[in-house]
Amino acid sequence: MSKKVYSSCIKCSAPLCPEEKLSLEQEIFYPDEEICHKKDYGRLEWIKAQRKIKRKAKDDTYFTYEMLNRKCIIRKGIKGLNPMKAETPQLKKWLHKHPKRKQKILSPEYKAKMLAGLEGK
Ligand SMILES: [Zn+2]
Repeated sequence: MSKKVYSSCIKCSAPLCPEEKLSLEQEIFYPDEEICHKKDYGRLEWIKAQRKIKRKAKDDTYFTYEMLNRKCIIRKGIKGLNPMKAETPQLKKWLHKHPKRKQKILSPEYKAKMLAGLEGK
């Protein structure tokens, strides 16, 4: 496997680093690759997904940025896409198989509490 080298990225060796990439949409992630460790980005949905996938996936498949951003449930043994096969049909199937998590509906009371908390700062 060939590793790309980014001369400007000294501290971070993650292939998918929010700081190094203007466009992440075209990027793919293999579970054996490094994940950006910078604290500021730890809350990003797709970086959280990377960490989960690293723990739960088999490393012979890859995940596109779209898949990482899917906000779907990541179960043990989750499989990405096969690099030996065409991406589009696999991706379509994968997205169908991994629907987005349902958003929690916030109660008006909870929202009011949140807002009050923000104003208190
Ligand atoms: Zn980074």
